[in-house]
Amino acid sequence: MSTTAPVDLGVEITETNCFINGKWVPAASGKTFATVNPATEEEIIQVAEGDAADVDAAAKAAREAFDNGPWRTMDARDRGRLMYLLADRMEQEIDSLARLETLDNGKPFNDSRNVDLPLAIDCLRYYAGYADKIHGNTIPIRGNHLCYTRREPIGVAGQIIPWNFPILMVAWKWGPALAAGCTIVMKPAEQTPLTCLRMAQLAKEVGIPDGVINVVPGFGPTAGAAVVKHPLIDKIAFTGEHRTAQVITRDSADTLKRLTFELGGKSPNVIFADADLDAAAMGAYVGLFLNQGQCCCAGSRVFVEKSQHDAFLEKLQKLTESRKVGDPFAADTEQGPQVDKAQFDKIMSYIEKGKSEGAACVTGGERVGDKGYFVAPTIFDDVRDDMSIATDEIFGPVLSVLTFEDKEDMIRRANDTFYGLAAAVWTRDVSIAHDFAARVRAGTVWVNCYDVFDAAAPFGGFKMSGYGRELGEEGLKAYTESKTVTLAL
Ligand code: ADP
Repeated sequence: MSTTAPVDLGVEITETNCFINGKWVPAASGKTFATVNPATEEEIIQVAEGDAADVDAAAKAAREAFDNGPWRTMDARDRGRLMYLLADRMEQEIDSLARLETLDNGKPFNDSRNVDLPLAIDCLRYYAGYADKIHGNTIPIRGNHLCYTRREPIGVAGQIIPWNFPILMVAWKWGPALAAGCTIVMKPAEQTPLTCLRMAQLAKEVGIPDGVINVVPGFGPTAGAAVVKHPLIDKIAFTGEHRTAQVITRDSADTLKRLTFELGGKSPNVIFADADLDAAAMGAYVGLFLNQGQCCCAGSRVFVEKSQHDAFLEKLQKLTESRKVGDPFAADTEQGPQVDKAQFDKIMSYIEKGKSEGAACVTGGERVGDKGYFVAPTIFDDVRDDMSIATDEIFGPVLSVLTFEDKEDMIRRANDTFYGLAAAVWTRDVSIAHDFAARVRAGTVWVNCYDVFDAAAPFGGFKMSGYGRELGEEGLKAYTESKTVTLAL
């Protein structure tokens, strides 16, 4: 099967098969599955449904490319050059990649085009520059020896990504892996396989050797689990839910794979009374509603100091009620649909729980329209710490407002979650800002800002929000092994 489907809005999808060893091949089973436009609930196209047989072929190709191909051993600067070329190709295709992303995921075209794509391109360039700067140390050990370390690629990386930032997750995963000299078996999310497949086409076009990047679309328990269990794969990099990470941990035990996980969150966003309230309201609004609330670092617990509660809520409510929800391709749309029916239903059930548990729904709280998975931007006030909307990751446009009076008690409450991905604090007092930043148990802390991402800044979670870090030098090291060499002089 090699389908050419002219879809609406000028998006042409030319490849929907598995990409294995530089070739486009149907799933061995012959099966396909539908990827759906969440704005219309209509099928976009059928995509190959890979499973264990296809993962096996991909793992063998990636292993061969790692062990015997040119990728690991070529001059590191040339590896970097191919990565720069890939980033350049993305830039040339930025509009069509952004359209494809919006079609498959539902996020506003403005966001795909002006946020996700630029960040993805930047990430690939950041790591392209690292390819020839990966080196070990010389170490002065006892005796007459030369001792040094080498940083070597970890091998074949199995990469399993979610649907909330499909192309950005491709860049976060491919960037450090390629720079380090690893080869890749990627399984995109079943909801959003299209930009990942297009990226594989671009990688082939720019000359990344066959077998270095392999893509197997399919479902988690079949294709995903096969990647996790495959003996020829050395490492799993996974972004998704903590419950899936628990399954992956168990499934990878027999082969003792290296694991990096970037998981969920219930991030506290804390507004002190002395904060710039306009900026804080905007930060709370963006920090939760960005990407339809489908961000692992969403600031879903907004703690506001009691004396400023009413003034803050008025500003936040005004912003929220002005949010334009609708056709993700419309120029003025700020919020598109949720990614699929399962997410939509989950969010609506949490909205019902919030209401029945006694929180005050000050705006939103309902579906928008009757076609597509649109949810009105929703704020709950008077939220208590033990309500399910304050404890569970909703992954939708539902913001909970909680109040505090005592700083110590607020820090305890902010930390009273098994998650620890991100946190933010809004204050003009530097002592309070640094004290909070030091004591909150989270991998990223934003002060007087939210969702500031950069390829150079490590990102990842404390506690059950993950293992290891992505981005920055730490993200690169997660794709390397350290080898110690000692030589008698
Ligand atoms: P979400 O609820 O956001 O879809 P998941 O953790 O279920 O989060 O999915 C993230 C990615 O993990 C997807 O690509 C999905 O197919 C994959 N996945 C789901 N279950 C498994 C599994 N048992 N083993 C490996 N990958 C899985």
